[in-house]
Amino acid sequence: MKSIPKSMTRFIAALPRRHQILLSLVCVVTLLMLFLPSDPATASRHADIPRQLDQQELLLGQRYQLPLQVDTSADTATQSDETNLRWSGYEVRSGDSLARIFDKMGFTPQQLYRVTQDQQADRVLRKIHPGDTLRFARDDNDELAQLAYQINATDTLIVSRADNGFISHIETKPIEVRTETAHARIKTSFWNAGIDAGLTEGQIMSIADIFGWDIDFALDLREGDEFSVLFEKKYAEGEFIGYGRILAAEFVNRGEHYQAFRHTNDEFYNAQGRAMRKSFLRSPVKFNYISSNFNPRRLHPVTGQVRPHNGIDYAAAVGTPVMASGAGKVIASAYNNLNGHYVFIQHGERYVTKYLHLSKRLVKTGQRVKQGELIGRVGATGRVTGPHLHYEFLVDGVHRNPRTVKLPQAESLIADELPEFKALVQQRLAVLNDSKRLYLAML
Ligand SMILES: [Zn+2]
Repeated sequence: MKSIPKSMTRFIAALPRRHQILLSLVCVVTLLMLFLPSDPATASRHADIPRQLDQQELLLGQRYQLPLQVDTSADTATQSDETNLRWSGYEVRSGDSLARIFDKMGFTPQQLYRVTQDQQADRVLRKIHPGDTLRFARDDNDELAQLAYQINATDTLIVSRADNGFISHIETKPIEVRTETAHARIKTSFWNAGIDAGLTEGQIMSIADIFGWDIDFALDLREGDEFSVLFEKKYAEGEFIGYGRILAAEFVNRGEHYQAFRHTNDEFYNAQGRAMRKSFLRSPVKFNYISSNFNPRRLHPVTGQVRPHNGIDYAAAVGTPVMASGAGKVIASAYNNLNGHYVFIQHGERYVTKYLHLSKRLVKTGQRVKQGELIGRVGATGRVTGPHLHYEFLVDGVHRNPRTVKLPQAESLIADELPEFKALVQQRLAVLNDSKRLYLAML
């Protein structure tokens, strides 16, 4: 206390006179307080003061040795650390390895080694992808104190420095699910109507899948068709993180109403509890591959007739996937000059489906296929002028229109499940109808 550094003296001398007086006064008061006899000060409770000292009386002017082993619980360690941490982020690029990232961020291989000694950290950090972000926290000594890696929208890996190495835990944000509705009227195409209504590509495909047993989305849709959908949206801490399930949907195709409701088994049923899933898909080609959604009077590519032959032609690019419309057994997979590459499938006793002009056959005669299974690809083989799939549907050996033929009855929910299901249907319908009214009011 006797020698005040020169710089300090100069600093004080440079101050205005009033400040100098004030400063001296403060010094005198402080000194008086220090040397006057007083009650021993009692320490206030504070996280920084170790427990042993907290309990005894502290004397002013006395030096205390703080025990080095304070409190080893992770909580207090991170709490006191976090205040002085400096965070910086790194976006993973292709070709990056953890070693390279640590090097780029200025950390040593030893630090990486210590981080990956934690098994969970090692396992999770092996899965980093380009575009992911790693965040690093440095302490005052520029040492790695914490590392955070957002695994997905809800989970974050936190690796924290502890006494011996690093320990990790995964922080999970709770997901909140809200529901929303969309309603649309088709003007140019189902796809565009869905996009205009704010639906995602996945949701649009899902709607086509839900109703794909009743409606041929490739050929049956018309301008003025309408649909409504009730779906989930997921949020974490108020932030939108993604879409959830479709809960209910309605489709009006050429004046016909179709409704579908998700049951607890995740299958869709109509309002009466009858399964939407049926023994045959209306179309063996997904609608989004079809060249035109509205072309009711297409001419046969070769004969030029309007309602030409025994099947339906789907104009689509060479290579478009062709699905088995129902489960069954392949009774022919071959080639001839007229049909090109073709596949015939027998379904039970009464039904046969035929797929012609393929560029590629992916099944063999005698093979069993599941509904929706890839059996070939659209081509332009045989007597054709352009690439398309020629599709035939035969019932008891007679050609029928696959888009209008009455198909086997769908399975129903068992009677026990119906009351609960129908109560749910009423709720969902009320929400869908409300949204439709709102939509129509806005037109
Ligand atoms: Zn044809």
